[in-house]
Amino acid sequence: MIMPEKNEAKRKLNLTAAVEEGPYYKPGSPERKAIAGPGTYGIKMTLEGRVFDSQGQPVPGAWLDFWHADGHGNYDNEAYNLRGHQYADNEGRYRLETLIPGDYMMRSPHVHVKVRANKKSPVITTQLFFPGETKNETDPIFEKLTVIDVKDTIDGHKATFDFVVERH
Ligand code: FE
Repeated sequence: MIMPEKNEAKRKLNLTAAVEEGPYYKPGSPERKAIAGPGTYGIKMTLEGRVFDSQGQPVPGAWLDFWHADGHGNYDNEAYNLRGHQYADNEGRYRLETLIPGDYMMRSPHVHVKVRANKKSPVITTQLFFPGETKNETDPIFEKLTVIDVKDTIDGHKATFDFVVERH
C-alpha cells in the first residue's frame, strides 16, 4: 500500500511495472465495478486501492479496465463476463468486486488490467498476482512488483493494490 505523506508529495514514485497483455483482452468492456455474472465459479474477492501519479498525487477519474479468468482458469471470450472498466473517484480510489481467478497451463492466478490517468496519458498494461501461489515460482510471466495484498476477512477476501501512472 502506497501511503504518500503531505510533505512527501514531491517524491517520485516508480510507475507500476508493466506485464504483457496476453491473448484475451477484449476492448469495449462494460463500465461496472462488479464483473462476475451470476453463477460464475470462484471465491469472492474485492480488490481496491488508489491510482497515483509519479508525484504521489491521486488521479481522480483514472480509467481502469480489468479482465481475468474464472475460478477454473477459463476466460469468457464470447461475451464480457469477468470484464469491466471503471473510473477512479475524486480521491483516486477504485473498487472491483469479483472472484479469485484460477490458474491455467503455465500461468499462476492473475488479474489483467489496463490503467491510465486520462485519455491523453499512456496506458500501463499489467497483471496482478497473488501472494504464496506455488505457480508464481514457475510462471515465466510472473512479476513480483505487481503482487497484491490479500486478507481473508469475515466479509471474504479483501485484496489491495495501488497503481502509479504517468499523467500528461
Ligand atoms: Fe491471463
